[in-house]
Amino acid sequence: MTREILKNDSRETAVVTGGGSGIGRATAIRLAQDGFRVLVVDRDAKALAGMKAGLDGALAITCHEVDVCDRLAMCRLLDDEARLDVMVCAAGIGQMLPFDAITDQDFRAMLEVNLLGVFIGAQEASRRMKAGGRIVTISSRAAIGGGGFAHYVAAKAGVVGLTRAMAIDLRGKSIAVNSVAPGFTETGITRALTPEQHAKFSALEPSGHPADPAEIANAVSFLASPKTSFITGQTLFVDGGKSVGSLLL
Ligand code: NAD
Repeated sequence: MTREILKNDSRETAVVTGGGSGIGRATAIRLAQDGFRVLVVDRDAKALAGMKAGLDGALAITCHEVDVCDRLAMCRLLDDEARLDVMVCAAGIGQMLPFDAITDQDFRAMLEVNLLGVFIGAQEASRRMKAGGRIVTISSRAAIGGGGFAHYVAAKAGVVGLTRAMAIDLRGKSIAVNSVAPGFTETGITRALTPEQHAKFSALEPSGHPADPAEIANAVSFLASPKTSFITGQTLFVDGGKSVGSLLL
């Protein structure tokens, strides 16, 4: 569908960042199936082209090449919309590095996309939302700890903190802000791991395998629904139960 046709659409509008791949992509499709008009934002033109090619034409999804760290570009996109009801901040990067090998540049790059990118998207969305708007950030189970990617853990713990702070600051505007914290999920990020790393991560999962991105999208769909706007400031772990502990007997 073209954006012009969709502009006159009265459906609720959702923006999904990082929607060209993985969890964002599954979320965009799920929200469109839920009845939203969805704008997919991604900086990767190839991922967007792949997304477009694989779409069911009946779904109200348009794709936009924007970097979430580019505030002006995000503003231009959102200013062109008549309404904004849901913002899902899923764009993110991953990188495995021993603690001693992480450089300032690695650390800054991680915070730039995974934390500042969430802040920019959520802040600009909140400025345009009416009462009843919903913001869903994608943090990670790694927010509670994890070895081999300290900069990622720090950024994701920051996303949980930011989500809780935004929930308080936006309460007066009746905008709900929550986070979904996925466990190991089969996406572009995990496909970039070496086969050995992938096998090790899988073995640590209670299920023994990564989650399907649709499982994560299911939780986002719940928090994006207008019926759940009384829930705010929460982080929903979708990790097969790994975050609650291990079975020892
Ligand atoms: P993915 O690589 O499949 O998708 C991430 C998408 O974000 C890509 O399409 C990428 O182009 C886009 N992106 C990256 N930087 C961007 C930017 N600056 N501007 C716009 N788009 C950008 O990976 P994924 O696993 O689906 O990641 C989605 C989110 O889920 C991330 O925030 C990630 O940290 C989080 N997460 C993933 C897992 C997992 O195991 N896959 C676990 C926990 C959390």
